Amino acid sequence: MKKTVLILFTLFGFITAGITQEKINIVVIGAHPDDCDIDAGGTAIQFAKLGHKVLFVSVTNGDAGHHEKGGGALAKIRMAEAQEAGKRFGVTYKVLDHHDGELMPTLDIRLQIIRLIREWNADVVIGPRPNDYHPDHRNTGILIQDAAYMVIVPNVAPDTPPLKKNPVFLYTEDGFQKPTPFEPDIAVDITDVYDQKVYAMAAHESQFFEWLPWTSGKLDEVPKGEAERLKWLAEQRKPRIDEKEKQSLIKWYGEEKAANTKYAEAFEICEYGRRPSDEEIRELFPMFGK
Ligand SMILES: [Zn+2]
Repeated sequence: MKKTVLILFTLFGFITAGITQEKINIVVIGAHPDDCDIDAGGTAIQFAKLGHKVLFVSVTNGDAGHHEKGGGALAKIRMAEAQEAGKRFGVTYKVLDHHDGELMPTLDIRLQIIRLIREWNADVVIGPRPNDYHPDHRNTGILIQDAAYMVIVPNVAPDTPPLKKNPVFLYTEDGFQKPTPFEPDIAVDITDVYDQKVYAMAAHESQFFEWLPWTSGKLDEVPKGEAERLKWLAEQRKPRIDEKEKQSLIKWYGEEKAANTKYAEAFEICEYGRRPSDEEIRELFPMFGK
């Protein structure tokens, strides 16, 4: 009897070890507390549901993102909103304490990002391209590019052990055409988690129901009730699938599933990270199926 229990425990140990090894570690980096949510929230929910580990990082504390509040008081509100969003997405949410609207791609922040990517033992790192209307988004893109490759160099930030493999670095989708338009190398069907994505994003109340509508002159359109607000936000943030993205969905999911995809998130492979084969992308994005 004892022997059987021992064998069972050993077996269980092997199985759990196997599962642990297959865990995929993803770091999504945005400039502001809500950027990761908008650009990769649905994909993050799917990774989390499959038991993988997702970290959202906001490089600034968001202390400039409001028309009536500001400074430390706003940073505290946004930190709390990010923590609530993290719970709803099923991810860990880290907000770095740099001022919003003033982000520069400094060596200190680059080293901070290198350490975070290493500590999370990242297989995939996702962030914005360095062409964007917002300087914080552009500089976040530069910071991530500057961290790619350096994450494996032992003499850079030597207090944090280097990664053994350069992660796959991916850019989030944007509509900017110059110098080059975004290429949807990878497209994730988020139709089945879109409502959860919207609910999680809605945790950033100061943004989606106050600041962003104020910037676009829509503050008086924001409904009061919670259910109405979620419906309104879902409509406002509905991602459109263009022809290139559609082709990418067909590549990864096949014609039938792509035809039924209502909402998707797309990513472009950054040339400075590891260059994955299609086979490896399928391993890193288990939601595609085999
Ligand atoms: Zn932003």
